[in-house]
Amino acid sequence: MSDLSPSEPSSLTSEASTSEAFTRVEPSSEPGIYDLVIIGGGTAGLVAAQGAAGMGAKVVMVEPDRPGGDCLWTGCIPSKRLIAAAKAAHTMRTADIHGIEPVEPKIDFAAVMGLVDNAREHIAHHDSVETLENAGVEVVAEYGQFVADGLVQAGERTLKYRKAMIATGAKPAIPPIPGLRESDPLTSENLWSLTTLPERLAVIGGGVIGCELGQAFSRLGSSVVIFEAEPKILASLAPNVSDLIGSRLRAEGLTLKTGVKVTSVSSKELGSTPEYQIGTDDGESITVDAVLVATGRRPNTTGIGLESVGVTLGAGGVVEVNDYLQTSNSHIFAGGDVVGKMPFTHTAAYHGGLIVSNALFKLRRSTNYDIIPFAIFTDPEVASVGRTMGSDLTKNSFSYDQLDRSVTTGDPVGFADLFTDRKGRLVGATVVGEAAGEAINELTSRVKAKAKLSEIGLMIRPYPTFGEGPARAALEQLRAAYFTPRTKRVVRPVLSALRRLDSAD
Ligand SMILES: Cc1cc2nc3c(=O)[nH]c(=O)nc-3n(C[C@H](O)[C@H](O)[C@H](O)COP(=O)(O)OP(=O)(O)OC[C@H]3O[C@@H](n4cnc5c(N)ncnc54)[C@H](O)[C@@H]3O)c2cc1C
Repeated sequence: MSDLSPSEPSSLTSEASTSEAFTRVEPSSEPGIYDLVIIGGGTAGLVAAQGAAGMGAKVVMVEPDRPGGDCLWTGCIPSKRLIAAAKAAHTMRTADIHGIEPVEPKIDFAAVMGLVDNAREHIAHHDSVETLENAGVEVVAEYGQFVADGLVQAGERTLKYRKAMIATGAKPAIPPIPGLRESDPLTSENLWSLTTLPERLAVIGGGVIGCELGQAFSRLGSSVVIFEAEPKILASLAPNVSDLIGSRLRAEGLTLKTGVKVTSVSSKELGSTPEYQIGTDDGESITVDAVLVATGRRPNTTGIGLESVGVTLGAGGVVEVNDYLQTSNSHIFAGGDVVGKMPFTHTAAYHGGLIVSNALFKLRRSTNYDIIPFAIFTDPEVASVGRTMGSDLTKNSFSYDQLDRSVTTGDPVGFADLFTDRKGRLVGATVVGEAAGEAINELTSRVKAKAKLSEIGLMIRPYPTFGEGPARAALEQLRAAYFTPRTKRVVRPVLSALRRLDSAD
């Protein structure tokens, strides 16, 4: 989470750090009352805690585990480190695209997992108890739960608050498939203690986590089958995205069983190693060495006393919040995965910053999900921001097989789709290709600025770079608008007049 280090609560700094906002903080009236009690020490809780303490508030964070949450320990960081190792293996196997003899890499899976661990440890100090305490945050290493309005119980401690924040995150949902829970499957939580690569891996769920990890395990040498009940993997994305990623995964040797529901899982011990039998609704049955469940995540809202303080839950158990991240109890705010909207680390950080402003300073900064991008770290990457669907939108596209930077990689694949509204303003974008997660940064600021395509197309960029992909999509639109027969009809007489003038000189 270093890029979203809580020491840099990005969205907080812009408004709440003004001296006007600072003087509006109301110090707690009694010494024993906290300005802010935060339950949960993942990204949302960490950003809020450090932001609030940095502004001079009395803040306590309740977290039974090591601070850092899913992103650091079981999510972004370990998965992206694993994906990097897997990419190296893939590059060795496909070196022939560069005229180099390909080799089958010898993979020491335990060593790879050791490096995954190193990456987490490298970053962990940003979020450590010591760092938090140095920043003025009190940390209580207990589970927290509301016991009455204004009171959170954390072990032996009863914490009184002016304002509280629910930042308890989410955990993998295990679907009610007969035999699945009893088979003790792998999830994004327990996966990281594996030391042996499963030879045959079944992934249940072809969403973001299933595709990222499925591709990584396949590249590291597992034979991977992804089961997805929807007709396509990455089903919530546009068909051109899921089709491209699907065909790449298939080309790399993964088996994608789409439109297929897993109906049963059973396990049996073969000596010291278990085997799993996966049954599906198309009557098939396959045998694997490990099962990874990636069928979505469930918010952590049970057992934290929400009923005692009148906090309402919405569909799927998420904490219901208004545009200011305030729950049905006006003293309690919620942010991050527990509110179930765009569950990414940068969303949690954004929420954390907003909650400091809104809870402590009584500002009314509202959420705007149209300017929150996301990236999926398959290879090629997928990244998107804003509105990308709707009959009122116009799409301009550019294929990366025509993008010079992409051609020079030896594997030109991907596209940029830009979406404009009726006034011709950029409202959304999707990029698929190498470094798509980087290209989306510029597009996010353009969506935020409601830019015209000409501003994107005519900006000068270093050549050749991936950032030119979206620019070429914008230029295609400008070409279509300006390089027309009508333009030629108008310009030709002007040019001949100018030629005559030149020859008269
Ligand atoms: C495999 C995987 C890969 C991912 N990759 C990315 C990525 O590349 N980019 C990205 O942006 N996002 C990614 N995510 C999502 C990202 O990890 C989450 O969106 C982010 O961690 C949410 O932060 P949070 O603070 O809401 O919750 P969490 O990080 O889950 O933190 C919640 C904390 O609350 C604590 N807690 C729970 N109950 C209590 C209680 N009663 N009392 C006290 N503490 C409690 C937990 O111990 C935990 O530490 C990934 C997720 C997974 C699973």
